[in-house]
Amino acid sequence: MELEKLILNNSASGIVVVQTTRGKVNSRNAYSQYNLCDYTGDDALRVLEARLEFCSLMGVDLDHLVMPRQSHTTRVLTIGEDYFDAGIEDQEAMLEDVDALVTDLPGLCIGVNTADCVPIALADSTAGVIAVAHAGWRGTVGKIALCTVQAMVRLGAKPQRIAATMGASICADCFEVGDEVPQAFEQAGFDMQLIMHRNAATGKAHINLQEANRQVLIDAGLNSGNINMPTACSRCRHQRYFSARRLGINSGRTFTAILRRDA
Ligand SMILES: [Zn+2]
Repeated sequence: MELEKLILNNSASGIVVVQTTRGKVNSRNAYSQYNLCDYTGDDALRVLEARLEFCSLMGVDLDHLVMPRQSHTTRVLTIGEDYFDAGIEDQEAMLEDVDALVTDLPGLCIGVNTADCVPIALADSTAGVIAVAHAGWRGTVGKIALCTVQAMVRLGAKPQRIAATMGASICADCFEVGDEVPQAFEQAGFDMQLIMHRNAATGKAHINLQEANRQVLIDAGLNSGNINMPTACSRCRHQRYFSARRLGINSGRTFTAILRRDA
């Protein structure tokens, strides 16, 4: 499994952000070689094998790998000791309909699954607080990145110290949308000049989800110099990353994760 490192500015060593890649692509299997997401129709044993390989590369135990069951909400779950005191069924209930995770526990790897949506990893290394969020267009309109920063602040983080980095996700040219989408962004108060354009040939609206999330993070108090944008579009580079627009909903997901190692 090849993991790509994502760069967080000003973050102490010991905090690592990675993103999975599809591995060997099989044109008849949209799950490819490495998919860690267990609710998109992939074979459960293959998902478990991918998770075990990921854990071994990251040096964490399987029970210290935590990912939510995402559903385009703005719900943020803070993982504390109470999560580890709970039984497996209670843990699963806690993770249901959650789209961002925050923790100050070291040695815990938290991540989100995406295929075109924007994964955002965040850290305040001084406070020892890390987070990861899944922002599709609904989550972006709902400002899940702001909700995540607020949950980090409750654990002692300061927005001006937080660094953020986004993983591979859909670019504005690939993200053609119906007019209800820009309307929702406009109603939520976004500066449409910064995040929308119309294709001259088709007249269709295109939204820049990555820039929209950057705007939300700046409004949340982050310094723009501490926000790193994605280096790739998932749909343009669908051989390397999963793209729901390209492969369909029943495909694998790219896993973006953050871990603060024990000192
Ligand atoms: Zn693209």
